[in-house]
Amino acid sequence: MKAAVLHGPLDMRIEDVTPPALGDDDVLVDVKAVGICGSDVHYYREGRIGEFVVEKPLILGHETGGIVSAVGKNVKTVRVGDRVAVEPGIPCRACEWCKTGRYNLCPDVRFHATPPVDGTLCEQIVMPADFVTPVPDHVSFEEAAMFEPLSVAIHACRRGGVGPGKSVLVAGAGPIGLVSLMVALAFGATRVFVTDLHPHRRRLALELGAEAAFPGDGDVAAAVMEHTQGRGVDVAIECAGAEAALSSCLMSCARGGQVVVVGLSAQDFYKVPLNHLAQKELDIKGIFRYVYTYPAALDLVASGRVDVAKIITHRFPFDQVETGFEYAETGKDGAVKVIINL
Ligand SMILES: [Zn+2]
Ligand SMILES: [Zn+2]
Repeated sequence: MKAAVLHGPLDMRIEDVTPPALGDDDVLVDVKAVGICGSDVHYYREGRIGEFVVEKPLILGHETGGIVSAVGKNVKTVRVGDRVAVEPGIPCRACEWCKTGRYNLCPDVRFHATPPVDGTLCEQIVMPADFVTPVPDHVSFEEAAMFEPLSVAIHACRRGGVGPGKSVLVAGAGPIGLVSLMVALAFGATRVFVTDLHPHRRRLALELGAEAAFPGDGDVAAAVMEHTQGRGVDVAIECAGAEAALSSCLMSCARGGQVVVVGLSAQDFYKVPLNHLAQKELDIKGIFRYVYTYPAALDLVASGRVDVAKIITHRFPFDQVETGFEYAETGKDGAVKVIINL
């Protein structure tokens, strides 16, 4: 089968590789759509993210929609021909965190496109049957691929306690910020404010239902306070991966607010306004990927309550995968989410 194999920074080649072997509890998925994520772009450009280093050739991609073309003999829940969304992290199922229901924290998780585990920018992948979610015909392969970033937003909104009547600040309107906005609204948040450096992303946020969108390099907290009669928001979700954005989140929260840190940064340490944290008794929560979010992603997309297709701006065929990476990296031509179609 053909695969887009990363050999080193900026060196991706489409090559013939051995297709994966199907086990008794597995399904074989013909890959149809793969979203390019910020992490894929980092591996492509720098060959590493923190401690994860590409040391041998690696297939990128972890946001995947496809169609089941074979099933192992024990598989009862999925059939050949099912169109599926693929959940990319396969945990050990045996450790403390797996057994307590927080399998995203499994130290032995095998996550697509995280070295040394291959991803899905290839013609076929093998998955345990319980890590694919069948989708109805009206959900496209591209939308199925978007269940993955949507999952991050669902997990962030759950950890932050987003619900009916809550007000939310989303700092950063890249793909994850924009899906967080959509999920917060779907979870019943009544007022969602968004920040970003780029005017076209702020415009998109307004189109998607944000009450207001502020320049990320301005005085975000002052703008939020002005819109909330000096109260602040119940929940702030940091999706920019920037020190200033986390500070804005802390300063924009109401007393007793929740701060959820989604964005990753190259910086190991931030300076934050500790007085806001203490005096308003804020909770700061990290999130690591997501846990058991695909059923909710399916319901939100299939019901039309979250229209993930609205942030897909560019599509490229498999043989133009590197062009797709270029658009995803630079945001060229207003690119937000870039999809590779196979
Ligand atoms: Zn991703
Ligand atoms: Zn485990």
